[in-house]
Amino acid sequence: MEKAVFLDRDGVINDHVRYVNTPEDLILFEEAGDAIKRLNDHGFKVFVVTNQGGVGLGFMKEEMLQNIHDKMITELKKDGAVIDDIAYCPHKPKAGCACRKPEGKMITDLAGKYKINLSESYMVGDRDTDILAGKKAGTKTVFIGKYEPGANHSTKSIGSAVDWILDNTDKK
Ligand SMILES: [Mg+2]
Ligand SMILES: [Zn+2]
Repeated sequence: MEKAVFLDRDGVINDHVRYVNTPEDLILFEEAGDAIKRLNDHGFKVFVVTNQGGVGLGFMKEEMLQNIHDKMITELKKDGAVIDDIAYCPHKPKAGCACRKPEGKMITDLAGKYKINLSESYMVGDRDTDILAGKKAGTKTVFIGKYEPGANHSTKSIGSAVDWILDNTDKK
């Protein structure tokens, strides 16, 4: 069984000042590549789990989402960082689907596919729905933002989230 870090996309890997509907809208945080590479180097699988309701709402075609993710992978690769897989929910926010966070299905499906031990894994996100999804799936949780009482840890960025995860893991 492997351990993993599940990353929300918008507001964690890339700046979320505006909706990301084209590759040009995707602006990665400068520290994202280094942070993900450190997870790779410490034996974590790294996954992205992202709600993309804009697809279901008709703001973005699924092919465009693929282009956006291709750019993300290419940009991260420049820093030597690898995303092992990406799961996204394309459904409308109010569709009541099984996958949209705060549901945990995107996480548990990836865990099944890659044989991940969820109790030794982490969900990192900037919304309470990310934290809820992680808890439902059985991961530890890191909130990026001011403070989220439900999370195991709150911090300011993906870089400091990874610092905490690696500290927390090495202590065991
Ligand atoms: Mg987010
Ligand atoms: Zn869905």
